[in-house]
Amino acid sequence: MQGMDASALSHVVLLGTGGTIAGAGGGATTGAGSAAYQAAVVTIDELARQVPGLRQLARLRAEQLFQIDSADFTDERLLQLARKVAALCRQDDVDAVVITHGTDTLEETAYFLHLTVHSSKPIVLTGSMRPGTAVSADGPANLLHAVAVAAQPSSAGRGVLVVMDEQVHSARDVAKTHSQRVEAFASPHGPLGLVVEGMPRWYRALERPHTVASAFDIEDIEALPLVGVVTSHGNMRREIYDQWASLGARAIVHAGFGGGTVPAYLKAPLAELRARGVLLVRASRTGGPLARGGCVDDEALGWVVTDDQNPQRARLLAALALTQERDPERIQQVFWRY
Ligand code: ASP
Repeated sequence: MQGMDASALSHVVLLGTGGTIAGAGGGATTGAGSAAYQAAVVTIDELARQVPGLRQLARLRAEQLFQIDSADFTDERLLQLARKVAALCRQDDVDAVVITHGTDTLEETAYFLHLTVHSSKPIVLTGSMRPGTAVSADGPANLLHAVAVAAQPSSAGRGVLVVMDEQVHSARDVAKTHSQRVEAFASPHGPLGLVVEGMPRWYRALERPHTVASAFDIEDIEALPLVGVVTSHGNMRREIYDQWASLGARAIVHAGFGGGTVPAYLKAPLAELRARGVLLVRASRTGGPLARGGCVDDEALGWVVTDDQNPQRARLLAALALTQERDPERIQQVFWRY
């Protein structure tokens, strides 16, 4: 890249939203999840300045959209971010967008953008598990790699990408799977590619539709319907589900055991909620694909299963589906498709 004509470089917008990548303080080995440092304090301009070689990869413009811990992402902020990214992607002088984000909810934001931003320009999210002040800070390399991936034309049209720890993941699949380690992100079907010698190297492509091929478009979405998630454990209480319904939830994602199991003692109360019009979605707290009609007569009871989507992404897909559909059979088709 060195010595490359600057006018040949892509225009990449860096959007800062906070997280540990913008964190500081604590001991030299402080990791994500520690109370010893503060997330979301370093500006995106400052972060970009701290990474040697970044400006040789692309022509950069930095914007601070939020400065928050990603735990504080609400649906309103998610919609605001998606509108911002879509607007940037419509600009002729923007070739790609890189978003710095806290790792805790990064997979949810990435998935939402993947399904609602109608652009084939590269949209890449990254974060870090260590604040910049730690000796093992991973933010600078992650940001460098995210920009390197975003700046490559070969990254276009692959859907929203998550670059962490030298891996390039699809937003459809990736999840945070560890609270401390730098190798915290994994995709159940493997990453799409790796960052090798500072360049993306691709190994597979995604089958499921996204971005320009998605039926959901952020321009048509004013607000998301309320969807709750309830995680299974022994000795559950129906009142938690009832509470979601009385808060106005249009759907509840039941993060069941293993194959999405529902305890026998919850089946009748949940059937009552279904009869009141609440959509019931079976996910797994374990991971892996679910079958219809396994532990629940989904057909008779009008339940939807999530395919292999984790409960937190299933919440977003159910909410998006409910902006267009009410019929559980059609919403089931949405889960099979995406
Ligand atoms: N709590 C932080 C956040 O998600 C953790 C991180 O970024 O790693 O904002």
